[in-house]
Amino acid sequence: MLEIRNLHKSFGTLDVLKGVDLSLEKGKVLVIIGPSGSGKTTLLRCLNLLEMPSAGSLKLGDSVLEFGTGRKPGKAEILKLRQSTGMVFQSYNLFPHKTAIENVMEAQIIVQKKDKAAARKRSAELLAKVGLSGKEDSYPHQLSGGQQQRVGIARALATDPQVMLFDEPTSALDPELVGEVLKVMKQLAAEGMTMVVVTHEMKFAAEAADTVVLMDDGIVLEQGRPDQVLRNPSSERAAQFLNVLI
Ligand code: ADP
Repeated sequence: MLEIRNLHKSFGTLDVLKGVDLSLEKGKVLVIIGPSGSGKTTLLRCLNLLEMPSAGSLKLGDSVLEFGTGRKPGKAEILKLRQSTGMVFQSYNLFPHKTAIENVMEAQIIVQKKDKAAARKRSAELLAKVGLSGKEDSYPHQLSGGQQQRVGIARALATDPQVMLFDEPTSALDPELVGEVLKVMKQLAAEGMTMVVVTHEMKFAAEAADTVVLMDDGIVLEQGRPDQVLRNPSSERAAQFLNVLI
């Protein structure tokens, strides 16, 4: 489903990703952990081209894009890849002047050109799926952080992405609201959604991930099954990072 080869990303002279190789099968969950500044968010943003990689290649479904070869990906290729992903942001990024259901409808109308009635029907189903039936007409400021993030998940699902990308989806939430968002994510995983999740929630990583990737300083330091990476890392550096968390 997803294949990343030798991916590099620099901001000016700052090399943030220094050759990342990862692959993910359909229906699997990849959780990315690592110290702050190690490049986790940048990697995730490269996957939907919110950041343009400096070099390497990216395969998602039947889209294959190469970077740094002189031939830049065209607009149509970029759009296609972007539309195969659904992104959930740390700070929700909902439109404040639109209701929950309007937030979920937006991309279906603008990007998928669905008619309003069809978009509304699908959005109501998605809001029900994330446990928000009855909140369709609430504005973001009338919802808790956990509810807003669940709207964010429904919105990302609305365009039927091949892979869902989560960028620290619970780190802006009060601790008592984290569980309701993780529950929805676990439910999606159990239904067979392909997911890449950047998180500091080690329990989620242990329980929901098929593969855990530990990044450090722009490279993949460890990758493997959660029990291998979290309990029995092969490098001293990884053990140090994990010890700090425990
Ligand atoms: P993480 O998600 O692991 O905390 P990030 O991917 O957010 O790490 O950041 C990795 C490094 O890239 C940091 O040093 C950060 O300052 C830098 N960085 C991220 N985005 C930009 C940007 N748009 N411009 C310049 N530097 C950036």
